[in-house]
Amino acid sequence: MVRDTQTASLANLVPGQSFALTGGTVIHDDGSQSLSDIVVGADGRIVAVEPYLDTSTCGACVDITGMLVSPGFLDAHQHLDKTGVLRFTPNPSGTLQGAREAFAKYARTAGPDDIHKRATRTVERCLSRGTTAIRSHINVDKDAGFHGIETLAGVRDAEKDRITLQLVAFMTPHPGQDFDWLAKNIDGAVALADAVGGTPAVSEDPPRYLDMLFSAAVKAGKPVDLHLDEHLKADVHLLDAALERVERFGMQGRTVFSHVSVLSALPRSDFQRIAERMLALDVGVVTLPAANLYLQGRDAEMLPPRGLTRVAELYRAGVTIATASDNIQDPFVPTGSGDMLEIARWTLLAGHLRGDELAAAHRMITTAPARLMGLGKDYGFKAGARADFIVTDCIDTDTLVAGGPDRAFVFSKGRLVSHSATENIRSKEDA
Ligand SMILES: [Zn+2]
Repeated sequence: MVRDTQTASLANLVPGQSFALTGGTVIHDDGSQSLSDIVVGADGRIVAVEPYLDTSTCGACVDITGMLVSPGFLDAHQHLDKTGVLRFTPNPSGTLQGAREAFAKYARTAGPDDIHKRATRTVERCLSRGTTAIRSHINVDKDAGFHGIETLAGVRDAEKDRITLQLVAFMTPHPGQDFDWLAKNIDGAVALADAVGGTPAVSEDPPRYLDMLFSAAVKAGKPVDLHLDEHLKADVHLLDAALERVERFGMQGRTVFSHVSVLSALPRSDFQRIAERMLALDVGVVTLPAANLYLQGRDAEMLPPRGLTRVAELYRAGVTIATASDNIQDPFVPTGSGDMLEIARWTLLAGHLRGDELAAAHRMITTAPARLMGLGKDYGFKAGARADFIVTDCIDTDTLVAGGPDRAFVFSKGRLVSHSATENIRSKEDA
């Protein structure tokens, strides 16, 4: 039960002062949960997470008995340069190509102020819903130029104590556009970014394009995150071409395939062969259920295939798979609130996970994306990690995923950045 005194005590924590939260249930990095105290240092990092800690030297101590603490939610794939443009970018076809064209037209006129305003608004919404790190792809092409990547690099650096932002230089090919422009500008874009991205299926020359992306990543020492095969045409997939480059360029453990919708369109035996190669090369997957349920399969006459990749099978095969928002209120996805629990639920339902796999959906928005984003020692409940976590009134991981909290307190780098409460139905039920 959440008491008003707890709310006041959490809200009154002084930024920059060490504190302890005692008596709560903590979801640990391995998915287990147990009663543990949390001590956070004045530097905003975790000092210790264990039962019955000595908290006498802390600047403040709040009893959170009865509450559940989750590590911060991670959104491993967004598009902060596109967010919030829905009403300026009509996409009557509702297709991926329609959305690409609508945004390309808008991008020619979108200046830094516009991008900044829209991106920071979405970042604030995400923070308020418990997201403490976002990886965002940012278009770099002839239409958008460097406006998006330069603006977001500024936001990333200015907000680094409140949220971890990673930028992917999304070298976007468009039909008829000059390949040489992308080749000439990729190094400059990657220098501002944290990873290299692109969308090979729409390139006029996918092998050359893939080589360009992987070469730039190796040169800059940065990971690769591809929009790979966001379609359902089984006969033209680029999975083998991309996997061959992971191996040739030595990018094992540093490559993410986002979307991979086409895996759903391949015979199971082909899927199994590819999944085994992905496991062997330590390639992770990010699934984007909102986008792929919305964009793909619209041309089917009967029983439309949906665009989602093989979520449950990838998870059960042992491939590291995260789930993420992709687009928020733009021509690619007209909906979205930045709530990763909502995305976890889409993933569980549409991806055919089961009722006993609610915790898997939680892993897909916490520890799995932490691995794919390379957050390493910075993330989770261990000494030295950023104190990024959410204190909720849920009972356990399953109820957190299934219905979400009525009350949530979001901490980023040891500071309370948001707290929210819906009408406390749970307390009425208990009464
Ligand atoms: Zn995307």
